[in-house]
Amino acid sequence: MKKIGFTTTIPVEFVLAGGNIPVDLNNVFVCNSNPNQLIDEAQNDGLPRNCCSWIKGLYSVAVKEKAVDEIISVTNGDCSNTHALTELYSANNIIVHPFAYPYEEKDPYSALKQQMINLGKALNVTLDMVYDYSKITDKVRDKLKIVDKMTVDGYVTGFENHLYLVSSTDFNSDLDKFSKDVDYLIETASKRNIDNKYVRVGCIGVPTINPAMYDFIESKNCKIVFNEVQRQFSIPSRNPDYIMRYIEYTYPYGVMDRINDIKEQIKIRKIDGIIHYVQSFCYRQIQDILIKKHLGVPVLTIEGDSPGDIDGRTKIRIDSFIEMLEIKKKKGIL
Ligand code: SF4
Repeated sequence: MKKIGFTTTIPVEFVLAGGNIPVDLNNVFVCNSNPNQLIDEAQNDGLPRNCCSWIKGLYSVAVKEKAVDEIISVTNGDCSNTHALTELYSANNIIVHPFAYPYEEKDPYSALKQQMINLGKALNVTLDMVYDYSKITDKVRDKLKIVDKMTVDGYVTGFENHLYLVSSTDFNSDLDKFSKDVDYLIETASKRNIDNKYVRVGCIGVPTINPAMYDFIESKNCKIVFNEVQRQFSIPSRNPDYIMRYIEYTYPYGVMDRINDIKEQIKIRKIDGIIHYVQSFCYRQIQDILIKKHLGVPVLTIEGDSPGDIDGRTKIRIDSFIEMLEIKKKKGIL
């Protein structure tokens, strides 16, 4: 049984069906007792200061902490830095299996299917085994849909929603325990009073490196009812065709697919405004231009760099944004 790490969401059933342990390197990094030290270690090895902290964390957990035996490196559809990161992994004698989501392919379905077949060969797993295993993971994914619905209804906090959906990329490396943890959350949260805040906000963009922002936002008259990328990471599609689920998964493809998904959720979840989290030195910051242009609701863009609390200036900006939404909502102009 090997620990198979990955640099972003992959079809995790390939790891599980082969009897191996899935490890999302991002989760290992951000859950480390001292993630800033991991960043320092990466910089000491020469990673540039103006490189995203997630990349430095992904480097250190694999190369310095040796958290995994092999790595599935997503070379297309995630991060512009992953090619260089993959080269560093290989140079440090880590076995790397590349996986590329199709981008501008004429036939994305066939291209993705071929990627999955290649991944299966590398991990000694067939597509049939993966389809069978997905019947097991679907039961857990269905529970996550309940958690997400309970967030919209006010029983589950924005932070809990973030934590459980983002953890579904590797099911915290223990599917059975994760499933029980989700059961426990559903049971306890269903006994709470509904958090009936006036303003309803959605959080979009890469998962924050500063989860403390959730409690700060929800300490105001404001409820977070949507975590865009985290929801996508939980693979919400129930398409009977497993490959299609990863075509419908919006994160690795063009920003317009993401925007259409966000617009749909704004309507369903009755969202008043959007907080767009961007990561320092991330190429995805550029997409903020199109997001602001197309969403049709007020958007506040906030930027995070390294683990820890959000800074005072960001708190003031969030405060003002929520106040503005509150006033506009009272006046009926949202
Ligand atoms: S935040 Fe951006 S730059 Fe950093 S790892 Fe994610 S996609 Fe790459």
